[in-house]
Amino acid sequence: MSRLVVVSNRIGDPRKPSAGGLAVALGQALQSTGGLWFGWSGKVVEGGTPGEGELHLGHAGRVQLATVDLCSEDHRSYYLGYSNGVLWPVFHYRLDLADFDAGFVGGYRRVNQMFAHRLANLLRPDDIIWVHDYHLIPLAAELRAMGCRQRIGFFLHIPLPPPLILAAIPEHDWLMRSLFAYDLVGFQSQADLAHFSRYVGHEVAADVVDDHTFRAFGMTLRAQALPIGIDVDEFSALSRSRESQDMFRQMRLEYARRRLLLGVERLDYSKGLPQRLRAFRQLLQNYPENIGSATLIQIASPSRESVDAYANLRQELESLSGAINGDFGELDWMPVRYIHRNVARRRLPGLYQAARVALVTPLRDGMNLVAKEFVAVQDPGDPGVLVLSRFAGAAEQLAEALQVNPYDISRTAETMQRALQMTQPERQERHQALLRRIREQDVHWWCQGFLDALVGPAAG
Ligand code: UDP
Repeated sequence: MSRLVVVSNRIGDPRKPSAGGLAVALGQALQSTGGLWFGWSGKVVEGGTPGEGELHLGHAGRVQLATVDLCSEDHRSYYLGYSNGVLWPVFHYRLDLADFDAGFVGGYRRVNQMFAHRLANLLRPDDIIWVHDYHLIPLAAELRAMGCRQRIGFFLHIPLPPPLILAAIPEHDWLMRSLFAYDLVGFQSQADLAHFSRYVGHEVAADVVDDHTFRAFGMTLRAQALPIGIDVDEFSALSRSRESQDMFRQMRLEYARRRLLLGVERLDYSKGLPQRLRAFRQLLQNYPENIGSATLIQIASPSRESVDAYANLRQELESLSGAINGDFGELDWMPVRYIHRNVARRRLPGLYQAARVALVTPLRDGMNLVAKEFVAVQDPGDPGVLVLSRFAGAAEQLAEALQVNPYDISRTAETMQRALQMTQPERQERHQALLRRIREQDVHWWCQGFLDALVGPAAG
């Protein structure tokens, strides 16, 4: 059996409970082939030389871990600048927030070259290589330039925007051309795949052989939509942990007379948090029976705080939640509990179980795993309701959620009210359908599906 090599910006230790479903699934695939996981160590070396990170080798069970440090200049340009200051906003349709500083792309290319050099020395001829996400788009092209001929696949965890939005990136043609160095490219949704097909059809005049096969630059690429899932059993097992059960009991005690609406995300402008707070405000205004009862717990865990757009968003959220509490709060009830801290993953199931409604209303999101985690741990006899943005990747799979357009504040408020009032039989029916799909299309289905497609017939 060929060895699997996974490359991602950050690597996880699949043995740690904080690892998450993706790390667990990739960890299992890596364990079974005695594989190699390669990525950034997470360490930033002050004043080091750009393009020269030290390589560290280690082990997690049968999996070999290889990590590279970044110097502060590479961290600034590759990670903060190009990956999170250009690609992240544009791929989430936020051209207004992109910082097209010409210097960043040099660092992005340099780090991808450095990763390719470090990785190439560790590769065997029959390895299967799986590269993850927007930080590493040109990695295969760099590996190919060094003579690597292994099968290489790429999965984009974030959305791919329509061609005209993508074309705003000064280097868009270089980025998209680099994708042709892969044998297989995976996207989260059919919408992303359609954008890719339109882009390569129009911008590079690729030969669109069929829905999944594209020829350009003398190369043939296969592309597929394969939505990532969660490990339902792993997450359900977490819900039986002491930490999760303590959380559930504590929430039930504290909010015995209230009805909880819950939002859990990284504090990110793609998540639609200001719009959600405005919709919650309208819920209280338009449906006053919720006053003294409906409580929104909003977890916004700190993320990328040194990028300006994130600091501005934080201020906006503090001000919006403060105003709702000031205008509607009573001595014994605060409508919004806004928490700018991370909640440990093993405690989250208890929080999901205590909520009557989950609000997952991003403006744009590759997938959104929180939506799936919420469904996975609901009591099938008395489940909570999922309110889901039509702009989350998960919306294609989760049709039985109450879908909203998060820009439409008053309809979102109306849907929140509908969720709070939904009868038990309707909640059960919707939950059953959602859970079935989340189980069928879980993270192991995703992982196996990608690897089967990658090792399938050669693209040529
Ligand atoms: N998460 C967590 N603690 C928090 C907030 C989020 O453990 O305080 C986890 C959550 O359980 C989920 C992941 O972080 O597994 C977020 O994934 P998602 O796809 O929803 O969004 P992303 O952050 O990748 O954009």
